[in-house]
Amino acid sequence: MTHLLDQLPEVLLMGPGPSCVPPAVYRALSRPTIGHMDPRFISVMDEIKGLLRQVMGTTNELTIPVSGTGSAGMETCFVNLVERGDPVLVLVNGVFGQRMTDVATRLGAEVDTLEFAWGKPVLVEAVQEKLGEKPYNLVAVVHAETSTGVCNPVAEIGQLVRQTDALFLVDTVTSLGGMPVTMDQWGCDVMYSGTQKCLSCPPGLAPVSFSARAVQKLRSRRSKVPNWYLDLTMIIQYWDGAKRVYHHTAPVNMLYALDQALRVILEEGLDQVYARHRQAHERLVEGLAPLGLEMLVAPESRLPMLNAVCVPEGVDEATVRRRLLEEHNIEMGAGLGPLAGRIWRIGLMGHTARPENVDRLLEAFQNVLK
Ligand SMILES: *Cc1c(COP(=O)(O)O)cnc(C)c1O
Repeated sequence: MTHLLDQLPEVLLMGPGPSCVPPAVYRALSRPTIGHMDPRFISVMDEIKGLLRQVMGTTNELTIPVSGTGSAGMETCFVNLVERGDPVLVLVNGVFGQRMTDVATRLGAEVDTLEFAWGKPVLVEAVQEKLGEKPYNLVAVVHAETSTGVCNPVAEIGQLVRQTDALFLVDTVTSLGGMPVTMDQWGCDVMYSGTQKCLSCPPGLAPVSFSARAVQKLRSRRSKVPNWYLDLTMIIQYWDGAKRVYHHTAPVNMLYALDQALRVILEEGLDQVYARHRQAHERLVEGLAPLGLEMLVAPESRLPMLNAVCVPEGVDEATVRRRLLEEHNIEMGAGLGPLAGRIWRIGLMGHTARPENVDRLLEAFQNVLK
């Protein structure tokens, strides 16, 4: 019987995630599965918490990977910190800001949104004005908006939120491990991310960090956390303390992979990793220009790891993507929402962000566009 898995090609992953996985992380995934309460596994868990704090730029005690993808991280933050009727402000300039609005609304929060054009950053002045109108319990923004390739000014927004009583929540699913993420310096109380973007680990875990203020809010809730699986008041008892209490079975091998992926990043050095992403991005932009391809986002707001490229007039974007995949084994992403059909999304995330990969894409692109 033919086995589908044996027929999978090696694809150069240049979409919005997953990204290419380094060999050391694949090796870590295939280590023997041990018990999730085994003291040796608990040691691995403790190591992961320390490595995550370094990459996230925080000293927060509560810094753990949640079982599930980036969206599970999003849901964890909202479900633990938002109660029915809470006033919440979400800054929206793409799909993931919209998703946060959806999640907060389902929890019965009183959600206000401040919307900005897709492809443009959040305007700090508008946020300042909105914060002056009424008090919020929580203000949420996406650092790297993967749907558009825009970087939002989270440090500046953090300064404004700090002057209020609101908790500041930042989505760093796409930015973590690819550009500076400094949770504590930003004055950020709650952060979540995902493994399959710049951490270059397969999808399946969502690093989450809560400040002391966020933990205090969690502890002083009026109502029980309305989701059993993501209830941090219980999950903490498995991830912390001298005696660990079973909540759900940890995805043991995925955690081996995350441990290794974080080590790969820290061994290269955070500054070197960020520089490599920037250089790959610059190489790509320079190489696209002679092909007549332009970027959607203005230079000062561009993300290095997610490049939104305008589809030229008269070109069928889906055909180009299909041919890149079929003929060159390169995956790139399509536009979403109002940008569907109008942009391609080229990911230079984690292990993918290397000059040889950029060159391979440019050559294939030239070939397909001819
Ligand atoms: C990918 C992504 C998510 C969702 O992560 P999943 O792993 O797909 O659940 C959330 N926010 C941003 C900014 C993302 O890029």
